[in-house]
Amino acid sequence: MELVLATRNQDKIREIKQVLKNLKMKMLTFEDFSEFPEVVEDKYTLRGNALTKACTLARFSRKPALADDSGLEVEALQGAPGVLSSRFAGEGASYEDNNRKVLSLLEKVPPQRRKARFRCVIAISNAYGRRKVMEGICEGRITQEIRGREGFGYDPIFQPLGQDKTFAEMSLGMKNEISHRAIALEKAKSVLQEWDKRRVIGITGNIGCGKTTVAKMFEAAGAKLISADEVGHLLLQEEKVKKRLTGIFGSSILGKGGRIKRKNLREIAFSDKKNIAQLGSLLHPLILKEVEKSIQAHDGGIIVLEAALLLEAGWECLVDKILVVTSSRQTQLKRIKKGTDFTPREIKGVIGAQLPQTDKIRQADFIIRNEGGEEETREQVMKVWEALEKEDCGVQG
Ligand code: IMP
Repeated sequence: MELVLATRNQDKIREIKQVLKNLKMKMLTFEDFSEFPEVVEDKYTLRGNALTKACTLARFSRKPALADDSGLEVEALQGAPGVLSSRFAGEGASYEDNNRKVLSLLEKVPPQRRKARFRCVIAISNAYGRRKVMEGICEGRITQEIRGREGFGYDPIFQPLGQDKTFAEMSLGMKNEISHRAIALEKAKSVLQEWDKRRVIGITGNIGCGKTTVAKMFEAAGAKLISADEVGHLLLQEEKVKKRLTGIFGSSILGKGGRIKRKNLREIAFSDKKNIAQLGSLLHPLILKEVEKSIQAHDGGIIVLEAALLLEAGWECLVDKILVVTSSRQTQLKRIKKGTDFTPREIKGVIGAQLPQTDKIRQADFIIRNEGGEEETREQVMKVWEALEKEDCGVQG
């Protein structure tokens, strides 16, 4: 996995790379890009700035990005410079200007009232809105004078609690054992180690086989559930989709209030193979994009993607494992008649548009036979669940 460091500050890059060096991850910096967006740090909090930087760079690069926003909080200055740390002595101020300003403001403040802390907020984001924020604090005091040449920023006037050296008198390795950034980065490390450990199980099966029941059982066991059907239904409400569908099938697919009526659409779509293909080629790429976004927005753990046409639409690329729910043709028909208002012609059309069960079974990693009672099915679900929990199978980035 690649991780973009959302900063141009070489001092921060050096510290971040050192703490995260054992992660199996390629770190990219602004030097790896021909363009790198400049993010204005105009939020009132470190958290706000860190999130803005991480999200902007993730959206720009389409890769996960990590940003740091940090600052010095001096008690005798009511928490200043805080979020304004980099420009405390004015826009474009140097590290030295800022240090001199803090020292001069504290000129008459005795040692026991020179308490201060460094606070670092790290934000990690991907391009799909998955975000994590962590914080690290290092307590200490402001010295009477500038001491040391290592580090950067306020390091020469900050003496961490329990140390006799300022950060600028320490090696990078020593600073990274106790600093606010190192503390936040250690937390980030755990988050990043889990970042890729997401497993997506595609649940599919022909109409009436009960894949929704099975998917809900996985959800009850602790999986996150994404329903491609629901995604499709939501898409039908979008103006641009409605326009294109009425362009193909005519305005008889619209119901009251000018919204697409699914029953009307179904009647036309499933009356003819050509119509089914047209509907699929319009909707499937849109559903795929939305489902991909939902998957990427989830954290680690097991995600269940319920998709009737997983294999027909070629969405295997989205999942790590395929689970097929089956039942006999007789049970299938009984369930369809009981659970839907499909006409016999529609039922024939839907079944005709799906791959035969035998083809699906051939591609399955797991098969659940949903023929008997609910308990029998749940037992099979729990067996698969336990197997999934045990095994550390393929990963999604
Ligand atoms: P920002 O996080 O880029 O907004 O930077 C805030 C400012 O806080 C930096 O320019 C430094 O002056 C200061 N700062 C942040 N972290 C450190 C640190 O580890 N040592 C010293 N100064 C720091």
